Amino acid sequence: MPRTEVEPYDVIVIGGGASGLAAALSAARAGAQTAVVERDVACGLPILSTGNGRCNLSNALLHPGHYRHPEVARTVMGATPEEDLAAWFHSIGLATCREGNLLFPMSKRAESVRDALLAACERSGVELICCCEPVRATWRESSAVQEPRKASTAERGAWKLDVLAPTRPLRAHRARDAKAELRALRKALSVAPKRSHALFARTVVLAPGGSSEGVCQLFDLPHLEESPVLCPVSCTPLDDRGRAGADLLARLDGLRAEAELSLLRDGELVWRERGEVLFRSYGLSGVVTFNLSRRVETGDRIEVDLFPDTPEPALADAFRMRERVVGDMGPRAYRWFDGMLAPALGRAVILLGAGTREGCARAAKHLGFRANGRTETGVAQVKRGGIPFSAIDLSTLSVTHPSNAAAAGTLFACGEALDMDADCGGYNLAWAWISGACAGRSAARATRP
Ligand SMILES: Cc1cc2nc3c(=O)[nH]c(=O)nc-3n(C[C@H](O)[C@H](O)[C@H](O)COP(=O)(O)OP(=O)(O)OC[C@H]3O[C@@H](n4cnc5c(N)ncnc54)[C@H](O)[C@@H]3O)c2cc1C
Repeated sequence: MPRTEVEPYDVIVIGGGASGLAAALSAARAGAQTAVVERDVACGLPILSTGNGRCNLSNALLHPGHYRHPEVARTVMGATPEEDLAAWFHSIGLATCREGNLLFPMSKRAESVRDALLAACERSGVELICCCEPVRATWRESSAVQEPRKASTAERGAWKLDVLAPTRPLRAHRARDAKAELRALRKALSVAPKRSHALFARTVVLAPGGSSEGVCQLFDLPHLEESPVLCPVSCTPLDDRGRAGADLLARLDGLRAEAELSLLRDGELVWRERGEVLFRSYGLSGVVTFNLSRRVETGDRIEVDLFPDTPEPALADAFRMRERVVGDMGPRAYRWFDGMLAPALGRAVILLGAGTREGCARAAKHLGFRANGRTETGVAQVKRGGIPFSAIDLSTLSVTHPSNAAAAGTLFACGEALDMDADCGGYNLAWAWISGACAGRSAARATRP
């Protein structure tokens, strides 16, 4: 049963994604009466699409350097985040396994992660209030308190959240599968008549993910404009002599290659990483390009090294040896790289290198592109921006509330709602779990007299 102004929740978490559920669980485990307010038809839905449905839930080496603000990540995540997270996964009954340094649920199914979290929340008494969106937030000081500044949060007052929710429980026809059922429920939610009612809480944890502007407005909080990162990069081949043709990328479209990507700005190396590059007609994609998208600026030079283990002179030498086996290279020997590179890539190297051993070694080590910016942002995995860390106490993840000093220490934030993003590889979810647990714990602690 929703609680009243007289007997408010200790903690309300806004947003029931990865960080919100972690926050709610931690708050409830610390003894707080906790509810999650989620605007979608169910909690934990964003988790289902992570890791291509397998959920890369963390990394065995959570180095702060993978995060947008390494010092913040180091402070919030602590000295032993890997061990802490292993214990936390164990505590919710989630068995994990490794692929290299990437951590997955043992089932390799993202549902397992969502289900384990929801079950743990249920065991701890967390109330999940779905299809419910806050539209107004007001801090109400308690009239019984003489000196509000000296009183504990528990005595000082409560947040009143006006929320919009359907007047009746949603009804959707039973569908063939879970995805169709979800679509039907969301459709029912979009057309359902709604009414406003109030929820009350001593503390609120903000966990709305990468679209936090609306929630920040409700609480009058600072907000940095959000922009998608971890997505493909649009680029143009750097082929000054026009050897490979304007259609170079169109010819490579869909090809994957193990390569090393270098990002250069004004001739200086900014960043370099090895991994699978996916060539697209508009530019580059694949995990390693997603990581590059966090650092790229328009006009940067991107170089793809197709033979990262072999220095350029050694590669030219290797091509000389190969000529003994497959015949001479030449400007029209388009299939000379068959057996070594995909035909379209081999053709590009021959054209760019003018069919000479040295030219082709150079082309294969420095396949160059000019970056035009991030693209296909609909597939982006995270958003940069959100609540700035200048408004956050890093030891508790409480938000300083500039326009309401009386409510100090009653608002917390976690996950992607904060201005934090990280490389692919489980780092973003690791941040969501750890920051969520920290915010939830702190919110619960703040409610104690
Ligand atoms: C396709 C895809 C794949 C990904 N794969 C991985 C991966 O394998 N590994 C990894 O580490 N990271 C991955 N990520 C990133 C990861 O999903 C996010 O970093 C993480 O989900 C952030 O958690 P969060 O709780 O902050 O936000 P979210 O998970 O986005 O949850 C926010 C929740 O808040 C709700 N909400 C929003 N606004 C309101 C409101 N006003 N009122 C009530 N509720 C609200 C939303 O409906 C949502 O349920 C992936 C992202 C995408 C898009």
